[in-house]
Amino acid sequence: YVAKRGRHGFEVWAPDGTPASRDRLETLEQLRTALDTDQLDVHYQPKLELRTGAVIGVEALVRWDHPQRGLLSPDVFLPLAEQAGLMRRLALRVLERSLRDLCAWRAAGHDLSVAVNLSVSNLQDVALPGQVGMLLDAFGVPAACLILEITEDVLMADAARSQQVLTGLRRLGVRMSIDDYGTGYSSLSYLRALPVDELKLDRSFVSHLTRDERAAAIVRSTLQLSLDLGMRMVVEGVEDAATLAALRAWGCDYAQGYHIARPMPARQFLTWLAEQPAWTPRGGMALPS
Ligand code: C2E
Ligand code: MG
Ligand code: MG
Ligand code: MG
Repeated sequence: YVAKRGRHGFEVWAPDGTPASRDRLETLEQLRTALDTDQLDVHYQPKLELRTGAVIGVEALVRWDHPQRGLLSPDVFLPLAEQAGLMRRLALRVLERSLRDLCAWRAAGHDLSVAVNLSVSNLQDVALPGQVGMLLDAFGVPAACLILEITEDVLMADAARSQQVLTGLRRLGVRMSIDDYGTGYSSLSYLRALPVDELKLDRSFVSHLTRDERAAAIVRSTLQLSLDLGMRMVVEGVEDAATLAALRAWGCDYAQGYHIARPMPARQFLTWLAEQPAWTPRGGMALPS
């Protein structure tokens, strides 16, 4: 490998000069700039309470408004941010933006919560609980209105350290959710041990719900498990009315998905909210017999 002076200072080139690694370094440099110049944006996807049809909160999903490439989705840049040690800055940016927007929506009379995703390195960061506490104070948002979503692999990375961070977050009164539930390892053992409030069932089980009896059985039994453990269950990836109706009939608590709404910029959210029909069964959604 050789270091050469390039457009963005020194760049490292693989022996074969692979464009992939050059692109990667360039993207990395641009990501640093993005964090410095506020190119990261947060979009919000509504979460529905099925029993009442009310919108009870949103999930914050980071976007990169890239000057040349347009709006980039997290799959494109999160792995890079994680490897480059930029996840703390990214998480704080998303938390700050989400709590600021939530504060404004609550001030406008909407009783909402916000869910923010955390990564492996965030859960290894013992400074995180203190910083989250300061942001909650700064925006005057009740801790219970913040939900932090973590995936199962986050819990596996360094169990002792992540447990410490998790405990610190819980002590603030923040709620914890297991994202993409059912796709990682060892789900049952940590469910016994960890202080978690919510299971968010992975959308792979949900997309085939109405056509696949086995997927349906997994959804129903996970719902029962969450009830027995005193947790709430959120189903993500609801893409059609039939799936929503089936979930409602089974007594599922909360749902998210393109059928309800796609993630949207903050400035669109209140307009969207005002235009909502009643999502209740009487609002025209037929229950399956
Ligand atoms: P996730 O937390 O599981 O978020 C759900 C993803 O599924 C989002 O993709 C969302 O746009 C998409 N989605 C929602 N409803 C539907 C649906 O009905 N059908 C389908 N096919 N997809 C649906 P997105 O925004 O591209 O985010 C991808 C992942 O990136 C997230 O998965 C999360 O793991 C991660 N992520 C997003 N924002 C952040 C962040 O601020 N910090 C961290 N650490 N991770 C984030
Ligand atoms: Mg999530
Ligand atoms: Mg998920
Ligand atoms: Mg995911």
